[in-house]
Amino acid sequence: MMSLFKGPMRQHIQGHKELTEHVEAQELKAGEKVYIPLFCGASTNLEVLVQEGDSVCIGTKIAECKERFFVPIYASVSGTVAGIEKRMHASLKPVPHLVIINDGQYKEVASFEPLNYETADRETLIDFMMNAGIIGLGGAGFPAFVKYKFAKDVEKLIINAVECEPFITADYKTIFAQKEEFVTGLMAMKKMAMAKEAVIAIKKTHQDLISFVEEAVKGLDGVSIAAVPDVYPMGWERVLVREIMHKEYDRLPGEVGAVVNNATTAIAFGDALLHGRAIVKKTVTVSGTAVKEPKNVIVPVGMPASEIIAACGGYTEDSVKLIAGGPMMGKTIVNDAFVIDRNMNALTVLANKPYDSISCLRCGKCSDHCPAGLQPVRIAQAVKAADKKTMEKLCAVDCIECGLCTYVCPSRLDVTENVRKAKRQLQLAKK
Ligand code: SF4
Ligand code: SF4
Repeated sequence: MMSLFKGPMRQHIQGHKELTEHVEAQELKAGEKVYIPLFCGASTNLEVLVQEGDSVCIGTKIAECKERFFVPIYASVSGTVAGIEKRMHASLKPVPHLVIINDGQYKEVASFEPLNYETADRETLIDFMMNAGIIGLGGAGFPAFVKYKFAKDVEKLIINAVECEPFITADYKTIFAQKEEFVTGLMAMKKMAMAKEAVIAIKKTHQDLISFVEEAVKGLDGVSIAAVPDVYPMGWERVLVREIMHKEYDRLPGEVGAVVNNATTAIAFGDALLHGRAIVKKTVTVSGTAVKEPKNVIVPVGMPASEIIAACGGYTEDSVKLIAGGPMMGKTIVNDAFVIDRNMNALTVLANKPYDSISCLRCGKCSDHCPAGLQPVRIAQAVKAADKKTMEKLCAVDCIECGLCTYVCPSRLDVTENVRKAKRQLQLAKK
């Protein structure tokens, strides 16, 4: 059963965006090797198309998914395939990675022919999106074409440019840098969704971005901008649909006539349409209180976090908490050997200050703020009591892992971690 929506979803949290917002993004060259995750939307069921010793270029297709809804993966450097290695992935799963020895030549091939979205029909665009390997870049990295293939009676295509996680400015920088790709991608998506309207959601506080996008979409039919409040988690699909359409859905936005995609997904798609380029590079915000030179970097997919942190001056503390993603929804990873995958947009480094948590005050703040309308404290108690029935009754699987319950807890209890545990236990029990 889906939980009811009860949370106020009006929590403003400190953004810290100034650390990287006005610093020029820096392109980093790959090191000796890149390690491309053979992973797509949680699946590792891929057919690898290259062998040890093969030469590849930037843009060579290296793997294809065997499952119906998964999409291909392309090489991010030129060089020689050195084999497959199992490594820890940013999703905290061991995943096979294709190792490519970088020849330093950066030879590039077009991964596919560009396509004019204005003359192509909807089915051709959907197939193109699938073959180009476009995945949703705002979340788990699930192939993007699926929501268009099954789109029906779509009233609004919502392009999410909210970027509500603290510290992260990668989307913001990318929109400024790739205006043409952004507009092309979003207009093609509008056509594929058969949507009456496309709405670009941007935080009210980002007036500069609003003006820039207004100018970029001037004169385009059925495209508007929604200036949304600077609250967390405004970028969550459900919150956006509620804010813009004043509607609630049960499982998927399609139920209320919405398709939601991230702004950088539109940009990646525009890049593919205009230049025949797959997702082989990523803009990543490297920020936080414990990295020397916070900035945005443009890096090849498969570059290890350790090399990126080194290029940002290294850590400023002996003990740090390294997060793949932002501090609220990202995953803390114990070492920096993991690599940048296609759906990643941030590395956050915080000082690892041990703090004392005290016991629960029963203040109810975690329940008041939970955007999914859950009672995190009660779920956490059920986890401690290993009481699966109660976890289920309290709809723990509906947690979106936004991190707010931990953020607002005055006792500094890691409530999110416990709700996450409950969610995993219930998901495992279902399999
Ligand atoms: S992490 Fe889960 S339980 Fe905690 S506030 Fe967010 S949605 Fe609610
Ligand atoms: S916010 Fe923290 S202290 Fe308050 S009820 Fe929730 S777990 Fe307990």
